[in-house]
Parts: sequence; structure tokens; C-alpha cells
Amino acid sequence: MPKPNFLEKIALFAIKHKVQAWFNLEKSLVQIDNYIVSSDLSPAKTWPNPDKFTQGGEIPFSFENISVIGKYLKSSIKNGEYSIKSALKHGIMPKTTITDEALEDIKEYAKSIGIDKIGFTKIPTKFIFKERAIQYDNAMVLIMEMDKESISKAPSIDTFRTVFQTYDALGIAANKLCAYMQEKGFGAQASHPLGGLVLYPPLAQKAGLGWLGKHGLLITPEFGARQRISAIFTNISNLPFTDNMDHEWIGGFCDSCNKCIRTCPPHAILDKPIIHESLRKTHIDRSKCLPYFVENKGCSVCLKDCVFSSHNYYKLKGSFEKNKVLDSNMSIIA
Ligand code: SF4
Ligand code: SF4
Repeated sequence: MPKPNFLEKIALFAIKHKVQAWFNLEKSLVQIDNYIVSSDLSPAKTWPNPDKFTQGGEIPFSFENISVIGKYLKSSIKNGEYSIKSALKHGIMPKTTITDEALEDIKEYAKSIGIDKIGFTKIPTKFIFKERAIQYDNAMVLIMEMDKESISKAPSIDTFRTVFQTYDALGIAANKLCAYMQEKGFGAQASHPLGGLVLYPPLAQKAGLGWLGKHGLLITPEFGARQRISAIFTNISNLPFTDNMDHEWIGGFCDSCNKCIRTCPPHAILDKPIIHESLRKTHIDRSKCLPYFVENKGCSVCLKDCVFSSHNYYKLKGSFEKNKVLDSNMSIIA
């Protein structure tokens, strides 16, 4: 991994302190009465890790890259801090149920500010990061598409810009939606997509929005692996939870595909999953992914190369299910 030069070290030092201040604010939430904390099975928040910034690890922060994504990163830090402070300021809110009409209004507003899809689910404490806490355990999971053309150029500065641009845009939209809900009298706490308070991909899977691919990213019918995820936690107790297993077939599809395993440049995607202490399964070997990620503008090759990023979800599902029927008929004949 290349070491940052002197000026890059100064820039990294400044970013490190800003991110650390944001994360310290997040950590302070565990001290607040009635906030919901993590469980023994919760993961630690490992990315982005400010302790590693000044060593040049974790984030591709060369001057060239900082000049491209700097404004989005600055805005993300500002909006990440704002989301915490706003929830603290509003405290307990009176309304805890919503009418169909009011929910439709919230969904319409979300759409008007660029949120592409929403799912609703209850948050298991095992999805809350260690040393973090949330105000309510009803989640509105938010998805925003990333630009197809820029992602198709991965790894490139265009792709890198799009990823951070989407983190920032979704963070701003989540804060706006949260403020809209608070104005209507509901309790709401936004969680920024860059890191956040909970592990988003399994939360989005639980909300029935898609399924996790072998590359660890959420795959949805609308955008394949091309989206960022965020959430709003709310006291609305009668949300129409969207939990379903409709996308579970993707797990079987991945087992017959393995394209991302073949095309990941540093071979960081493993066929056999790694089981973390938290019992969470992943196919990503971070010790191989991160150095390549840092040296190659955030990489994203697995995102670009995922079959779902270039093929229609329903066509893939149709042919996968047809082949499954053929295979089972063949095994009966054999
Ligand atoms: S980001 Fe790049 S290095 Fe990391 S898993 Fe994906 S393809 Fe591999
Ligand atoms: S490339 Fe294939 S194996 Fe990898 S996540 Fe996408 S569908 Fe699954």
C-alpha cells in the first residue's frame, strides 16, 4: 500500500479528526436512557476507521482523490453529525401511529427528494453496531440508485465520485425526510449511509428489498448491486412491514454464478464463507480487498461485474428457475 506524502498526511490528519468527532457523537448515544443498544451478536463498526486514515489505509485518500470527493465527504460528515443532533433535539415525539394517507404522503415526499425505494422492518439488536445506539426499533430502509454509466467504468475516478456523491445525496435526503416526519409529530432519527448506526445490507434484506450477493452487496430487482442504503428509525408502531423472502433465490443463483469470485482483481471474494464472531457470514476477505480498494480509487469491480448490474432481474430469475426444474427432472431420470 503506498504511504501518503507529507501534505496528504496533513489532509488525512484533518479528516481523521472530523470523522472521529462525528463517531464520538454517535458513541455518546449509548449513554442516553431508553436508546436501544447493540447485542452480543452485533458487529463492530469497522469502516471507515479513522484510526487508519493517517497510515494511508482504509480509504483511497490521495490528493487526486480528495480533490474529487472532498466536498461530498465534508458534506457527509456535516450531515452525519446533524442527523444525531436533530434526533437528540427532538427527543420523545407524541404520535406513534400513522394513517394510510399520511404514510402515502411521506412516501411521496421521499420520492420527490430522490429516494428510489423504501422498505419497512423491525430492527433486531444484532444489526446495531457495537458502541452505537438507536432511538426506535422501527426502520424505514431507504435506497438510492447509483449512476449506471459511472459504475460501468470501475475502477475509475468517475466511479469513485459517484459512490461518494450518492452517499452524500442519500444522507441529505434522509435528513430531509426525517425533518418532514418530525414536523408531522412523529419520532424519527436518520442514520447516514456512510457507515451509519446499523449494518445496512442485512437490514435491507430483512425489509424484503433484495438479497445479499456473494460480494456482500444488496442486490435489488430495480438496480442490481448499484445502490446505497440508509435508514430512518421511528416511533411509528403500525408501519406496514415489508419483510419477505421473495429474493432468497439469489443465494442459489450466486452459488451457480461466482462471477465476482473470478473477476475480483486481488481474489478477495471467497467461495467458502468466513464466519465472524457475531456468526455473520461474509465471502469477503477484507485483508485482500482493502489494499486494492485503496490503491484503485475504491475499486467497485464486484459492483460493476455483478450479473445483476447488467441483466434483468426477472429474466435471470426465470432462467434460473427453469434450469432448476430441468436439473431436478434430470436427477429423477438418473
Ligand atoms: S471492491 Fe474490488 S477488491 Fe474489494 S471485493 Fe470488490 S472487486 Fe474485490
Ligand atoms: S456476480 Fe454472481 S456470484 Fe457474484 S454477487 Fe453477482 S450474482 Fe452473485
